Amino acid sequence: MTRFIFITGGVVSSLGKGLASAALGSLLQARGYKVRLRKLDPYLNVDPGTMSPYQHGEVYVTDDGAETDLDLGHYERFTGVASRKSDNVTSGRIYQQIITKERRGDYLGGTVQVIPHVTDAIKEFALAEQDDCDFILCEVGGTIGDIESLPFLEAIRQLGNDLGDNAIFIHLTLVPYIASAGELKTKPTQHSVKELRGIGIQPHILMCRSEHEIPASDRRKIALFCNVREEAVIPALDVASIYEVPLRYHEQGLDTQVLKAFRIDDAPPPDLSAWQNVVKRVKEPEGEVTIAVVGKYTGLKDAYKSLQEALVHGGIANNVQVNIEWFDSEIFESEDAVVHLENVHGILVPGGFGNRGAEGKIAAATFARTRLVPYFGICFGMQLAVIEAARNLAGVPNASSTEFGPCPDPVVGLMTEWTHEGATETRSETSDMGGTLRLGAYPAVLQGNSQVGGIYGSTSISERHRHRYEVNINYKDRLEQAGLLFSGMSPDGRLPEIVENPDHPWFIGVQFHPELKSKPFDPHPLFVSFIRAAVEQSRLV
Ligand code: GLN
Repeated sequence: MTRFIFITGGVVSSLGKGLASAALGSLLQARGYKVRLRKLDPYLNVDPGTMSPYQHGEVYVTDDGAETDLDLGHYERFTGVASRKSDNVTSGRIYQQIITKERRGDYLGGTVQVIPHVTDAIKEFALAEQDDCDFILCEVGGTIGDIESLPFLEAIRQLGNDLGDNAIFIHLTLVPYIASAGELKTKPTQHSVKELRGIGIQPHILMCRSEHEIPASDRRKIALFCNVREEAVIPALDVASIYEVPLRYHEQGLDTQVLKAFRIDDAPPPDLSAWQNVVKRVKEPEGEVTIAVVGKYTGLKDAYKSLQEALVHGGIANNVQVNIEWFDSEIFESEDAVVHLENVHGILVPGGFGNRGAEGKIAAATFARTRLVPYFGICFGMQLAVIEAARNLAGVPNASSTEFGPCPDPVVGLMTEWTHEGATETRSETSDMGGTLRLGAYPAVLQGNSQVGGIYGSTSISERHRHRYEVNINYKDRLEQAGLLFSGMSPDGRLPEIVENPDHPWFIGVQFHPELKSKPFDPHPLFVSFIRAAVEQSRLV
């Protein structure tokens, strides 16, 4: 029997509902329960794959090749449970399904309506693939009061009825502090819950985000006006590290209140040792390193959410604090700008798309290679490192990627441009734009005696992809003669997956996104090794 927890948010957006959901999932898991988390997004895009990172932050890719909301990254990092396509849905996808059915005549002449057709489709999504889970946590995106989230709220209201005692509602709100009055204000929470109750949803638990301790009198007041038990008003105070969140919520009684709402009184106590260990390492590092991330969307850190976390995980594994310096790669297009890289202990060029700033990333790769600074190229960062090597080591001065337009030496290009055997495999059925992306988990075979073979401790791996272009196998021999080693290949040997530079302490490019699979309690080996190399570098400079 699976129990459902529906999580909504009120007052303002960006309260960290995804993190709160993930943290609750991890607490239930720590008590021995099997959990799964899902996200219902009210926007009309079919998936976030076509949205600019500035609109939406990172696109999180699952093993089964779905382009999903970045909150799924939090879920996976906090619970270790691999997210799937069936864990994220948007209004756009729901409407797309319904309109396709309508055009096929599936509704047999009936009128198609928000209630029941849209709400039924949302309910079906929430209830799908329960996998013997003890708890499924469904987070509804957006803020109470938004027009577009109404069908989702109506659907979960109905589910509350359908599931009876097996469903509860949690509402996350903000209790702002008014500095001039020196007071916390409960009114926005009261209004938000009133709005929710107007839709027919009575929350069982309130999580109140606040910058300050919420005094008992305010908790009492919130409880009274919102029709919630006082112990079920959980203060959610700001913390220094997101990995403290599960521990703090546990202290405030969140998991206890959830179990109580379900009338579960025989739950085992949680084993929080893994989180305690992570928090200890985050809070008491024995040193620090600085990593330059040379990218395009550096104005919005959410655009590189998983990457940022994976670097933190690499730090956790090495007991060091990782300071990230974000650089817009365009600055390195002017020659003397590389001085900014003089004092960093590692350079990372992350995934990216398009011409703008690409030459700056190549300049950063040149700097890393020639100055023996650890270099980690991810996806685009690998492709550009290969172009750099082609131009400066292999004597192919016009090497480039066809992503930037036709070029005489397409060292990076579409596979269809150099084979006649058909397009790269695609699993994206979601968008015409995304139709040619290689998405999701693919295996790779590593050379046993290579650096990455040692790092993974294995010669067969599986990692997640999201790219359209590939390193051109036809240049492999020339690049290898020039000193680059193609140490990871697709099992059929046709697609380069990893390159490394054996003449350099740590110079690795990977075609996939290792950051998507890194967890605080299970850091990705490439990030562990990269940060270790940065620690060594820090002893030199
Ligand atoms: N733009 C490159 C491609 O499509 C790299 C994509 C990425 O870094 N995710 O192949």
